[in-house]
Amino acid sequence: MHLSPRTFPVRCSPSAAAAAHFAFSCFVQSRMDVKPCALSGDGSAPLASAARAPPRHVHVSGEDGDAAAKGGPVSPREWRGWGCASPVPAVVTEVIEDLKLLEEDMDAPLSFGGKGGKLQGEFKVKEDKKHRAKYQALGDSEKKLQFFAARQIACRLLGSRNYLCQKCWLPMEDCMCSKVLPCSLWHGMRFWVYMHPKDFLRQNNTGKLLWQLFGVQVATLCLFGVAEDEEIMWNTFKLAGKSRVWCLYPNKSALTESVQDTFSRAQFQSERASITEKNEDRILNFVLIDGTWSNSAAMFRRLKEQAKIVWGEDDLPCISLATGASAMHKLRPQPSWDRTCTAAAAIALMSELQAVPDFSSYGLDKQAEAVEDALQVLLEALTARRLRMGRSITRKVRHTSDIC
Ligand SMILES: [Zn+2]
Repeated sequence: MHLSPRTFPVRCSPSAAAAAHFAFSCFVQSRMDVKPCALSGDGSAPLASAARAPPRHVHVSGEDGDAAAKGGPVSPREWRGWGCASPVPAVVTEVIEDLKLLEEDMDAPLSFGGKGGKLQGEFKVKEDKKHRAKYQALGDSEKKLQFFAARQIACRLLGSRNYLCQKCWLPMEDCMCSKVLPCSLWHGMRFWVYMHPKDFLRQNNTGKLLWQLFGVQVATLCLFGVAEDEEIMWNTFKLAGKSRVWCLYPNKSALTESVQDTFSRAQFQSERASITEKNEDRILNFVLIDGTWSNSAAMFRRLKEQAKIVWGEDDLPCISLATGASAMHKLRPQPSWDRTCTAAAAIALMSELQAVPDFSSYGLDKQAEAVEDALQVLLEALTARRLRMGRSITRKVRHTSDIC
């Protein structure tokens, strides 16, 4: 197949994508490293060949039309459309430019597939060499992390154009947006969904539900290793002060305090009035780590490093949730999970805050219910998709040590 030099054909096999995206993974705490637009299964999920849909070819030439639908650069509008609150990251733009240049040089199409949204085919071989050389040449670990993150994000984004709904990150034919009713989050709190780049645009990610419901101003995506995102988050934390930032980190080895202990303190009782007055500086910030179990340790470490730069101390206050599991029990009757997915962590936090007398009048119980409803809608959409593709809806428990 010959394609014009500025063409980004993206091949997707929806059935393969469905196989790779095991619908229930977040409900059984399993995580599969999958790409948004898979060309083939990654071997971790069997493909039902009889039910496999024909490969989906998306030809996106950058000659004309709007950039988002074609192979052009990421516009601020497209970037925000995917849920991001920052300007388009400079390194992401750079990576996309490099991919396009390589495509022009090779006169070979870009195609995505396999585990982790990796490039495929002849292009992959060349690109692999090029990006490894670039990675090695980068001086420090910070630049390396930023390049790694940007490359993941760029590939996922290009592979998802014309395939996923920007809002719900589901294939367009399975868009669930009309079933999610936006809701107001209590003005005294803000969520930061600190997401690993490998989770960006994942269909069964649950962190995305938070900004779908509450809006990006109060449930903000912050991509791990993206300087623009992390700067926005840490600038906000600087203003807020260390006493108003908490991380919900489900690691039992981290020093944590319960919601009850943290928010029943006299300090919070005296501050309650200023929160009620809608004082921006008094907003309580909660970081939800949205990554696989194995990635979350590195993410937490980075948060602590940044806390040290900002506050001079590397301990970041952590909150442990007592009801994280039971709150989701009705949605997840299986006993195989032991950790909570991102949306469930938000639900549990809101439910536990509701139980603290000072926080009982903010309607957090209703807001928690809205997230629960959205989670149910996501589960149904993923289930319907699997059934349509002829996939089993039997839950898998192979990756029980992961969170999502
Ligand atoms: Zn949608």
